[in-house]
Amino acid sequence: MTQHNAELILLHLITPDGVEHGYGSDTPVDYQAVVESDQRLGEIRDALQQSPFAGNAIMFVVFDHGFATCAKLPQPNVVLKQRGLIKTDETNKVTERRTEITAVLADKPAGMHGVLGVKSSGEFTQLGGHNPEAPHLVLITGPGYSFDNCVKGKAVADAGGHKGSHGHDPRPDSMYATFVAVEKGNQTRHKT
Ligand SMILES: [Zn+2]
Repeated sequence: MTQHNAELILLHLITPDGVEHGYGSDTPVDYQAVVESDQRLGEIRDALQQSPFAGNAIMFVVFDHGFATCAKLPQPNVVLKQRGLIKTDETNKVTERRTEITAVLADKPAGMHGVLGVKSSGEFTQLGGHNPEAPHLVLITGPGYSFDNCVKGKAVADAGGHKGSHGHDPRPDSMYATFVAVEKGNQTRHKT
């Protein structure tokens, strides 16, 4: 920060994301990762109060998602393959998708363990998923589950312990992200 005359600095503190994927959220190692990142933010804030930044800098702390814990991994592709709706080659790459997939999933998600619901691309957009490349359907899973894209094995695999994932329905509290802005005079604005 002090060596370069930068007007904008973007810094990705990635440790909490990696730790929560591996060990889930609200665990001792997760809190340790968050404390460590908080210390790094403290160092940056302290540096911004020194010359040449003092009085000229605004710090934003932004998150792009919360986290859900999971122990089971529904593998919808396994079920789709069993039903003949997709085909794969010897390397397990999907080589063919039947056009009925959308209609079958929209109609009978209950047949797939761990699938709590199916959103159309319009419903997905209403949840904030503005993406021109959005799929025709989005599968929704619930607490304790996270989708895996494997095409072979069980319809629901074991995650191998307490893990974490994002990419879920954004409405539960655990999926909220946080926004913090620290501006001139060290006033802090905060929103979760
Ligand atoms: Zn992640």
